[in-house]
Amino acid sequence: MGNNDIYYKTEGEIELIRNSNLIVSKTLGMIAEVLKPGLTGKVLDKLAESFIRDHGATPSFKGYGGFPATLCVSRNEVVVHGIPDDTEFVDGDIVSVDCGAYYEGFHGDCAYTFAIGEVNEEVMKLLQTTKRSLYLGIEQAIAGNRIGDIGFAVQQITEKLNGYGVVREMVGHGVGRSLHEKPEVPNYGKRGKGIVLKEGLVIAIEPMINLGDYRVRQLNDGWTIITRDKKPSAHYEHSIAVGKNKADILSDHSFVENAIKNNPNLREI
Ligand code: MG
Ligand code: MG
Repeated sequence: MGNNDIYYKTEGEIELIRNSNLIVSKTLGMIAEVLKPGLTGKVLDKLAESFIRDHGATPSFKGYGGFPATLCVSRNEVVVHGIPDDTEFVDGDIVSVDCGAYYEGFHGDCAYTFAIGEVNEEVMKLLQTTKRSLYLGIEQAIAGNRIGDIGFAVQQITEKLNGYGVVREMVGHGVGRSLHEKPEVPNYGKRGKGIVLKEGLVIAIEPMINLGDYRVRQLNDGWTIITRDKKPSAHYEHSIAVGKNKADILSDHSFVENAIKNNPNLREI
């Protein structure tokens, strides 16, 4: 893949993408306030859609390639792209909630995996490590580094150090006027390989990390991706702008994390 078809953003465009991501981040914060056993993905989805529209934005995912909902809600062995349904969350579930919002011409994209109630320690460690890998990937998103440096950092802590499976089929992506732009941002890779990162590049970094084997399969609904071994999978995502010395994180997990502190049904990651 060349650099030709990558849309590098101006500072003004980056601020617009930050605004879109602020709406997404607040939507996830709202989800973190209400999430508890007995709720369903469909209920969360309705709340999220109203919240996004009340902020003058549009859900990015709804209708994207025919996706039927505002949120991707992915429980336990579901890796990503879970369609919100009527299944009630139960104590011990992990739930990835992925959200996108389109506002003033740009998309925001951010995800967080929640731990409901008594999640076992092995799975808690998967969540903590996956979240940590996201930030280690982000640390590599500086001008002059290469796309492979991001994937290498994610893969190192998850696969090499902890024996988890790094999902290969799904990757991060450029984000801007389109929800998915070039370049692809794999969660695996070699240091010093791939395109050179430049200021103005805005990407969504989103490690999808399996407790067991890295292999996944798609359900017959054409969306839901699950682990082949049915072991749980974690997913955290930020939209970021490549910076000169430091990446600029455009989405914000603090809304979620403050809400989790005040929600006795959720565990802090
Ligand atoms: Mg996402
Ligand atoms: Mg994404």
